[in-house]
Amino acid sequence: MCASTLRSWGRYPNAPQSSEPLAWRDSIRARLADASTRVGTTLAFGNGRSYGDSCLAATDHVLPMRGLARFIGADWTNGVVRAEAGVTLGEVLALSLPRGWMLPVTPGTQFATLGGAVANDVHGKNHHVRGTFGCHVLRLSLLRSDRAPLECAPDEETALFRATIGGLGLTGVIEWVELQLMPVQSSHIAVSRLRYANLDEFLALSRGRDATNEYGVAWVDCLARGAALGRGVYTCGNHANDGDFSLPARRVRSVPFVMPVSPVNAFTVRLFNQLYYRRQRPGIELARMDPASFFYPLDSIRNWNRIYGRRGFQQHQCVIPEANARDALRVMLRTISASANGSFLAVLKRCGALASPGLISFPMRGVSLALDFPQEERRNTALFARLDAIVAEAGGRLYPAKDAHMSGEHFRTAYPAWQELERLRDPALMSRFWKRTTQT
Ligand SMILES: Cc1cc2nc3c(=O)[nH]c(=O)nc-3n(C[C@H](O)[C@H](O)[C@H](O)COP(=O)(O)OP(=O)(O)OC[C@H]3O[C@@H](n4cnc5c(N)ncnc54)[C@H](O)[C@@H]3O)c2cc1C
Repeated sequence: MCASTLRSWGRYPNAPQSSEPLAWRDSIRARLADASTRVGTTLAFGNGRSYGDSCLAATDHVLPMRGLARFIGADWTNGVVRAEAGVTLGEVLALSLPRGWMLPVTPGTQFATLGGAVANDVHGKNHHVRGTFGCHVLRLSLLRSDRAPLECAPDEETALFRATIGGLGLTGVIEWVELQLMPVQSSHIAVSRLRYANLDEFLALSRGRDATNEYGVAWVDCLARGAALGRGVYTCGNHANDGDFSLPARRVRSVPFVMPVSPVNAFTVRLFNQLYYRRQRPGIELARMDPASFFYPLDSIRNWNRIYGRRGFQQHQCVIPEANARDALRVMLRTISASANGSFLAVLKRCGALASPGLISFPMRGVSLALDFPQEERRNTALFARLDAIVAEAGGRLYPAKDAHMSGEHFRTAYPAWQELERLRDPALMSRFWKRTTQT
């Protein structure tokens, strides 16, 4: 076993994961068996783009999947790819977009792997049209410690398929994934951007524009108050239809080390928010954006998570059902603004009604709010307790992929199908998240 620097994206909890390189599919089962004999349980580790502890093994010993990054097959007539689970979404796009095929669902980072995208059943800026990633998985291969290798599909080994989509890596190690891609007329996005004055304007805007736009998302000024509560900048768009499939290279910068003290504080966030909001002039701005800038703006700064310093940060992401969204989000935003806590990374997104095949998938029809908070034990604990209570009362839920704090009771109430997942869990797999929320 070797020491390694594998961590979750929020760097909180501070729990480096140990691992040994894994390069071949036919060694996964032996490694799974070996880990369960030597350390008890383990967990597949994708690319560590989950923020909290759902990608951390309860034993802190993981099976690193990034070495399994080969394409197995592709049908470019019908837009179907089969690839090992450690292939990243960016690697899929590099092959598929020039051929006119887009990922039907992509999160805000291209560095997530196929295995990670399945295990968290990730969603993107087009949930209202395409649902979650799992809606587009045609087939996957699963390796378990207690069964022979098996393939799962919507109509084959259905219970395990549904449990694996959004199953937090607990139902087995995903060996490969077969995915249906989406045809597009261009890799570029024709974007409309406009600023909105408050939460009510966002709700009206997104409700209206969802009908005609594939993508929609908003940045929100989490410190605005009063009549400006929830103000921000709304961006929506569709793939352009001019047949340009280029993938322009982007200048990538990097945060070279973990900052000793985080520059993210109430003063800098307030200043940034003012400037960012005002930079967007009144009226609709039309633009054309390349895919990397539109889908993955944060990926252009490698290791941006290091700006939060040694203590790291937590993201609080919830989704509130449509009927309660306005009232609950108003109270949440007021609570956050009054706490003078939060960061400039604050996102509002509308989720649609398309059901996921996943047993415990996060999205539901309603509105999702996601905010990053520098890790400050006492302040976050008090603030999150208030926010969680609002979410629970409104019938919403928190996103396990981003979580490092929710209580077991909160999780079990919000995701009643957790017991079915526990029944189908591979006994050799256990995460810190699952142990924290279901086993104590
Ligand atoms: C900048 C940024 C933006 C993001 N935006 C979004 C967004 O818009 N929407 C969204 O939904 N998420 C978003 N995320 C979260 C991210 O997409 C998910 O956490 C994703 O699951 C990370 O994938 P990963 O490959 O890094 O997996 P990891 O984080 O390493 O692991 C995630 C889970 O997948 C499991 N897993 C990984 N590989 C396998 C495998 N081969 N077999 C079985 N289980 C496996 C792990 O056990 C773990 O439970 C964002 C993250 C970042 C950093």
